[in-house]
Amino acid sequence: MFKPDRRALIAILLYLVWIVYFTVDAYYTEKRHLIEDIDATLLQSAMSIPILLPEGFHHKGMNADSVSAKEDWSNIIRLSQFADIVKLKYLYSMILVDGKTFFTASNGTEEERSTKVNLVTYFEYYDDAPSELHKAFESGEISYVEYRDKWGYFRSVFVPMTSKDGLCYIVAADIDISNIETLLRNSLLKNLFYGALFLLFIIPFQIAYNWRMILANKMLEKTVSERTQELQSKNDETQEILNSSSDIIMLTDGERIDAANTAFHKFFGTTSLAEFDARGLKLSDYLLLYRHNDDKEKHFQPLEWIEKMKNLPDNDRLVTLKSESTGVHSVFRININPAGKRFVVSLTDVTQLTRTSEQYRYLATHDPLTSCFNRNYLEAELADSLARVKRYHSAVSVAMLDIDHFKEFNDNYGHLTGDVVLIGLSDLITISIRSCDLFARWGGEEFVLLLPDSDLESAHNAADKLRLLVAETDFPKAPTRLTISIGVTQLAEDDTIKSIMERVDHALYSAKARGRNRVVSQPKSE
Ligand code: GH3
Ligand code: MG
Ligand code: MG
Repeated sequence: MFKPDRRALIAILLYLVWIVYFTVDAYYTEKRHLIEDIDATLLQSAMSIPILLPEGFHHKGMNADSVSAKEDWSNIIRLSQFADIVKLKYLYSMILVDGKTFFTASNGTEEERSTKVNLVTYFEYYDDAPSELHKAFESGEISYVEYRDKWGYFRSVFVPMTSKDGLCYIVAADIDISNIETLLRNSLLKNLFYGALFLLFIIPFQIAYNWRMILANKMLEKTVSERTQELQSKNDETQEILNSSSDIIMLTDGERIDAANTAFHKFFGTTSLAEFDARGLKLSDYLLLYRHNDDKEKHFQPLEWIEKMKNLPDNDRLVTLKSESTGVHSVFRININPAGKRFVVSLTDVTQLTRTSEQYRYLATHDPLTSCFNRNYLEAELADSLARVKRYHSAVSVAMLDIDHFKEFNDNYGHLTGDVVLIGLSDLITISIRSCDLFARWGGEEFVLLLPDSDLESAHNAADKLRLLVAETDFPKAPTRLTISIGVTQLAEDDTIKSIMERVDHALYSAKARGRNRVVSQPKSE
């Protein structure tokens, strides 16, 4: 339930380090102060020893017999009483004889005095004297020493002194410090314990604080998740609407696609935009502008195609895309709506519509039997040519062709064979004329040829070549060869379609009249 976070753990750790530092520091400070106090007592007490001993006690020539047992006992008692008052374990004096230390006076504890065990008496040899004692004798300087000997663990002061007649002796005071070490250790542990206890008091506050934070976080999380769900469901609804459209809909900056519907993925054969991106192609790489052949295969700059498309009239906003799933080119009407800095681009498949309208256009301008242009189309083109003649005074001629004795042919070989001949003748002439010439079926077995940039003479020559070609051709299924008669005339500036057609028809009539299989030209003046 309660999990302290990393920051709380670090804080606790820092606090513990601080506690340890504080207690160790307190331990050493306390120890220093204590030792200062002890040393002062030791020094004062040691320096009192000569006063407690009989005057002139230490003198040159001191030996084992210099003090009687009685006098020694009296010294022991006096030093003991003083040691009890100042609460020191030992007070004693020593001299150095032949490099060896001998006690000259010492107190004894109550137990030592009563049992006489370990009681130091006059001129007793100090067999395990610490080395610092010898140094004090040599240097004549006061020294403080901590050491352990058969009497215990002590802090002592050695004070070198000189008697009136010049004997060097040392007065010393010992305090038992085994107790002090324990006391200091206890104080250290106490400090640590209180420190830890304080931490234990802090933890409930920390828990309470954290609990509030956890609750606040939970509330926030709940609100965020509710909002996220709301947004998600809105998003799902929008996506559902977009996905229900058969149009390809996407959000793009012109290159990168940021969102797309299922129609998009169906067309491009992808399941996600990441998959689409992985192909490394930009949207413009898929686009081919339709009906604007100049732009075909051209690579567009990101916003170039969008601008181009936006400026086109509604019906011309067409692009072709190659379907990834079917490999078929499809024609789309594109719709572009700005959405902030990006665009919502929707593509409506108009392939079928385009195809149908093309079929209608074809049917309206072509002859169903021969597939060449029909009379409607020819008349429209003739009107254009006439306009050009009037404006630019250009030379345009017209030829009218009619199969000779075709009725008879039909009668002899059947109407169906006649149809095949009509198709064959149309194909033959279509491939034999210039690309700028226009060949159309006028009706029945009559055809009209529109020859731009041709005066009457060159039109006559061209017509005659065709006449010869037909006369020498064996049409499929036709048991006999056929001939054609041709009337030719040139367009004049004051002509109408009617006058032109009448004149060319007249020329054709003349060709028939003059025996058929021939070309007759009729200038305007005739
Ligand atoms: P000419 O022109 O030499 O004076 O004699 P013609 O026999 O060709 O006479 P005309 O031009 O008057 O006859 C037209 C014939 O063309 C009548 C008809 O049988 C035939 N014809 C017209 N349209 C078609 C068609 O679509 N298919 C077939 N098979 N024959 C057609
Ligand atoms: Mg005819
Ligand atoms: Mg005819």
